[in-house]
Amino acid sequence: MTQPLSKDNITKLLKRVRIRSQKSQKAESDIILLAVSKTRPADDVRAAYDCGLTQFGENYLQEAVDKITDLADLPITWHFIGPIQSNKTRPIAEHFQWVQSIERPKIARRLNEQRPDSLPPLQVCLQVNISSEQSKSGVSLNELDELAALVDELPRLQLRGLMAIPAATDSESEQRATFAALRKAFEQLKLKHPQIDTLSMGMSGDMESAIAEGSTMVRIGTAIFGPRQG
Ligand SMILES: *Cc1c(COP(=O)(O)O)cnc(C)c1O
Repeated sequence: MTQPLSKDNITKLLKRVRIRSQKSQKAESDIILLAVSKTRPADDVRAAYDCGLTQFGENYLQEAVDKITDLADLPITWHFIGPIQSNKTRPIAEHFQWVQSIERPKIARRLNEQRPDSLPPLQVCLQVNISSEQSKSGVSLNELDELAALVDELPRLQLRGLMAIPAATDSESEQRATFAALRKAFEQLKLKHPQIDTLSMGMSGDMESAIAEGSTMVRIGTAIFGPRQG
């Protein structure tokens, strides 16, 4: 059994966001808080929603679709942030408003083809492999421009920005260097795609560094819901 959601966690987290964004001369409202609810039951998502959170991120497709169906009465914005297999793109295109983990052309093309006409375009971030010494997923910086150009051409996808999951480290200077590199890639991409507005970086353990380096969206699981089991 996981612990039930604690409202206190959310209050503390919002305070962390506020303090760090003030330090960076930013409004707290400049930072979107994405609650990462993977492995958590729908009741926890509902409780978090009742505490004022409205955007949720999920990694595992079937689990996510079950929760989205259960919680259809709530106006939640759902983000898919997990690895995408090409035979699983259709339910993603049908159930989510955002996809942050696009790293290859094939996935982008399939999501574009499968996005229902009755829905607005899928809002997408490209996942960048920013700490390449690790075998983390994501498009390499070398191939980023090409993938962005492709996504920009696809009518049912709307390019919103970049996402990365850096290798975990406790060193603040390493965290900041990695986030700064992603920020630089974002600024460069913005020259060609001026509409992009989302730099999705920072998790429970490194969100202060991410905000300091210009994050516009932090993706927080543990600090909201407590540690995950297994
Ligand atoms: C699980 C996950 C998070 C949240 O991580 P925490 O350390 O629990 O805050 C953020 N982003 C992605 C892509 C994840 O898979």
